Amino acid sequence: MKRILQITLFAFILATPAFGVEISPILEGKMAAFSFTYDDGAYSHYTTALPMHLKYGLPATFLIITDRVELEGEGRAKKYCSWSEVCEMAAKGMEMASHTKTHRNMRDLESAGLTKEMMKGKTRAELFAMREPNWPTVWSEIELSREALESHTGQKVRTYAFAGNAFPDWTGRIISEARIYTRGNIRIATGRGDSAESYRKQLDEKVVVSNCVSCAMIHGVGTGDAGDGWNPIPSLDVYESLLKMVAERRDTLHVDTFGNNAAYAARARNTKLVPENDRPGVYKLVLSEKPKDICEPGEIWLRLAPGEKVEVNGKPAVPNAQNAVLAHTGDTIAVR
Ligand SMILES: [Zn+2]
Repeated sequence: MKRILQITLFAFILATPAFGVEISPILEGKMAAFSFTYDDGAYSHYTTALPMHLKYGLPATFLIITDRVELEGEGRAKKYCSWSEVCEMAAKGMEMASHTKTHRNMRDLESAGLTKEMMKGKTRAELFAMREPNWPTVWSEIELSREALESHTGQKVRTYAFAGNAFPDWTGRIISEARIYTRGNIRIATGRGDSAESYRKQLDEKVVVSNCVSCAMIHGVGTGDAGDGWNPIPSLDVYESLLKMVAERRDTLHVDTFGNNAAYAARARNTKLVPENDRPGVYKLVLSEKPKDICEPGEIWLRLAPGEKVEVNGKPAVPNAQNAVLAHTGDTIAVR
């Protein structure tokens, strides 16, 4: 039913003659996209999570608090990863992303120096201006952590997670100016009360059916030692059950780093099938950018209606198992 409504909505918005092809909000035309995100750069993410992700062939995003990265050598606490471990994870295909410089919470910053009385009756613009003195702190948390990560790993940082995942709406403008994806849409927040059954329920009832990008937020993975993160999963078996279940659902779930999933979702949101005036049934994939989106050109998956055939740039496209075909922004699509 949901899919029928979507197709109807697309057809209405585009005001095109009846055809089924639509831009898939998910890579490969799958049902949903999912990312594992690990917060704080705990040492167990290197010792335990990394090998587990390599075992199941699942990419993941590790969010590092750059001021807490440990130095190698005598007296090392081994509560957080070191720079050489961060670099090794990047080299093994994981996304190393920013989780602030100092873990400062933006909600504390929001109220810093502003009382309720002062904010009363103010417009959004006035409130935003009142918070301007806080901007340099927000910027430094993003930019300095990004610089530190990029200079060590040599990879571009695309994803950012706020401390406590708190990002009041006044931070939105700063985020779009920083041109970084903000980790959000957490459908599974792991912790002490978890079980394999609770993961199964959340995956099947919230993730697979969502037709959008969502993620798990993971801190401690359950090693039971001092190098594990905050609010750990009860045991390593329970932790592994989550990875196993996600791996088993790869036919319907696109599992990728948060940066890859967010980049694709932004592109899909900003791409339109625009009919060519003089050629019926021929469309161009046109990319624009909404003010708040960070958008790059690239691959676009098209979901086809049953039996529908399309040509991409004049060549017949072969659909995959989801009946979706791969195209790119700027391509010409002909529906046959
Ligand atoms: Zn954190």
